[in-house]
Amino acid sequence: MEYPFQIIGIIRSCFKEKFGVPRQPGLATEARATLELQPPYDRPESLTGLEGFSHLWVVFVFHQALRDGWRPTVRPPRLGGNRRIGVFASRSPFRPNPIGLSVVALEKIDTSSAGCHLHLRGADLLDGTPVLDIKPYVPYCDALPEATAGFASAPPEEVFAVGFSEVAEVQCAAREAAGNPGLRKLIEQLLRLDPRPAYCSRRSPDEDGKPARQFGMRLYDIDLRWRVEEGRVLVTELLAVPDAGTGG
Ligand code: SAM
Repeated sequence: MEYPFQIIGIIRSCFKEKFGVPRQPGLATEARATLELQPPYDRPESLTGLEGFSHLWVVFVFHQALRDGWRPTVRPPRLGGNRRIGVFASRSPFRPNPIGLSVVALEKIDTSSAGCHLHLRGADLLDGTPVLDIKPYVPYCDALPEATAGFASAPPEEVFAVGFSEVAEVQCAAREAAGNPGLRKLIEQLLRLDPRPAYCSRRSPDEDGKPARQFGMRLYDIDLRWRVEEGRVLVTELLAVPDAGTGG
């Protein structure tokens, strides 16, 4: 039997690469995205009534995690990347059907000009993510305060304070003024969660005498440079990525 699913829309988000994307929605409330409905689903009447809901479920394809075959166990970063659990006990992008589910805040619905655009906040979605469906978040049945959550029973710890170099401070303010509102807060929200791969976060630079490694991360059309030093994150520079779009 065939199940003919169609892509109803595409996400335009501030996240241009996987590195640094929050591991769940809501962890970075400043993470902005726009869902652009695609023809023939870009009909304003298909959204009638949705304006009354503050949050949405987005059902999407992990389009950058497609691989042949699947493995029954995965190693979630949450467990330090060295403990295996069942794929169906995880939210890993690598699963038999690469389908993701995220609850996001619905800020605004725009059906005025070029199509139907839903403005979202708190996304954990890459730019270009194909969307299969959206559904309103309904607190009386979707919010379950008595639920238990195994190895993910608490939100991830915020590991670091985040500081900006003088240069980065000026560059960030200029970007905010030029059309990336909330950028400073977004950077803080992302970096305080320590997006480094587990093998880096286990290694302290003081232990082996090597200088702190520089990391680069793509946000909007910005190449964000930062490092971990003296127990905090220091944002060193915000560089422009040449010829990049600014989606989200
Ligand atoms: N909330 C969703 C869920 O539970 O199904 C996604 C959780 S998954 C652990 C979140 C990670 O998926 C992000 O940190 C990012 O690295 C990755 N991701 C987001 N969008 C993606 C896409 N379109 N393709 C592949 N990976 C993606």
